[in-house]
Amino acid sequence: MDAAPRSFAELPADPSYGVPVPFAAGTEAGATIGELDRRRVTQCALSRVCAVCGATLGRPLAFVGSRSELDRMAFHVPPTHVACAESLLDAYADVADPVLGLDVAPRDWVLVTTASFEFVRPGRDDADRRPAFTPNGIQVRLGEHVAP
Ligand SMILES: [Zn+2]
Repeated sequence: MDAAPRSFAELPADPSYGVPVPFAAGTEAGATIGELDRRRVTQCALSRVCAVCGATLGRPLAFVGSRSELDRMAFHVPPTHVACAESLLDAYADVADPVLGLDVAPRDWVLVTTASFEFVRPGRDDADRRPAFTPNGIQVRLGEHVAP
């Protein structure tokens, strides 16, 4: 059930927003950017592939998410290549709605880099049932995507 990697330029377009649908949001026809695809999130975590393009991760790797995720050091979009994260933020600059299951729109996302991460599966009693990713220390903060 693993899906093959695709370059950023080859990702399918979301039918509503016209922006690329990242690997972790689904690889089947009709996939949208609204929510993450749980199977792909798990694949990203266990196979250590990029949440955007689906190819094997190197170092450093990047996380995109909300400020509150950064504050908790618990991201929900799986790790990506740094270049893929930057391409995603550029492509989503005009998306005004919360997407990828996050609670804020892309203009309020942050981008951080790290060398490694832990995959945290939700506990039986956790209110938030989504698996999360905890960076093992943020090495470089590339900055934040700031609305113009
Ligand atoms: Zn990538």
